[in-house]
Amino acid sequence: MAKSYETEHPVKAFGLAATDSSGHLSPFKFSRRATGDDDVQFRVLYCGICHTDLHQLKNEFGVTPYPIVPGHEIVGVVTEVGKKVEKVKVGDGVGVGCMVGSCRSCESCHEDLENYCPKVIPTYAAPYHDGTITYGGYSDIMVADEHFIVRIPDNMPLDAAAPLLCAGITTYSPMRYFGLDKPGMHIGVVGLGGLGHVAVKFAKAFGCKVTVISTSFSKKDEALSHLGADSFLISKDANEMQGAMGTMDGIIDTVSAHHALMPLIGLLKAHGNLIMLGAPNKPLELPVLPLLTGRKMISGSGIGGMKETQEMIDFAAKHNIKADIELISANYVNTALERLTIADVKYRFVIDVANTLKQS
Ligand SMILES: [Zn+2]
Ligand SMILES: [Zn+2]
Repeated sequence: MAKSYETEHPVKAFGLAATDSSGHLSPFKFSRRATGDDDVQFRVLYCGICHTDLHQLKNEFGVTPYPIVPGHEIVGVVTEVGKKVEKVKVGDGVGVGCMVGSCRSCESCHEDLENYCPKVIPTYAAPYHDGTITYGGYSDIMVADEHFIVRIPDNMPLDAAAPLLCAGITTYSPMRYFGLDKPGMHIGVVGLGGLGHVAVKFAKAFGCKVTVISTSFSKKDEALSHLGADSFLISKDANEMQGAMGTMDGIIDTVSAHHALMPLIGLLKAHGNLIMLGAPNKPLELPVLPLLTGRKMISGSGIGGMKETQEMIDFAAKHNIKADIELISANYVNTALERLTIADVKYRFVIDVANTLKQS
């Protein structure tokens, strides 16, 4: 039975897959399609571990097709290009983020917002155009349509670039779209994890004043001295929160655990925008009156289109923005996932795929 994964396509591939909702990853032989006219094939060097991987591995959305090879923060070096490919050549550093396909003809696709295409094809655990299931970057080789390939600038370290393909664009896109990218603006960042730490870096690069809002006092020093935030608020400290009321132009809320919105809305100036990037599994309580009394907004945002993802990575390279990572070997990945469950990482695990993922 397992044979079909190895032979459904012509190119041999090797990765790590979970076969059930325990989410435990084991070696997995499968295959990739031959490089089509518009395709780029690349050798995977690094792949970040995103929180979404954990949810999908454990079937928390209820739609995981097993076996699943996760990974949507993938970088590597081009090994082959199709004859119509113009964007990259063999030897270039490239990446693939959260999607590998879309309809290319709907309104969202025409507006370079493939991420909002109703037919967007996620990088793993989804049916591709040919009907086969997509496999992600916890694997040695990748092939994708050049439209969904990002060029990684030469001066960017590939391992620290990987998490930008999900965590980076997820925070960059809403700051750009909602105009929270102007020097002198005051931006709050709630939650200092994979998303939050790059949100701080982008906001600082835009010239904003950045305040990190966290439940944990232990992150204060890190936020201020290491990440360069300007101030730090403990969300449980009513006095501190009161003192910052009505001071923020926007807040990037990266928290996916259940939490109260009221104190955050209070931090916003009139016309301020609370942007939700985490996805709590139960609805949050929405206090409406404080929105009315300041024409405030609550909004959501999910990754970004391909054009903007390229812009984000170029901006990151120019401003020396990198994700803070813990580079791990492939045989550590199950332990890393356990540690991710308890948020025990600063701030992103990245798998050293090329050096450590070996068929034995
Ligand atoms: Zn992700
Ligand atoms: Zn579309």
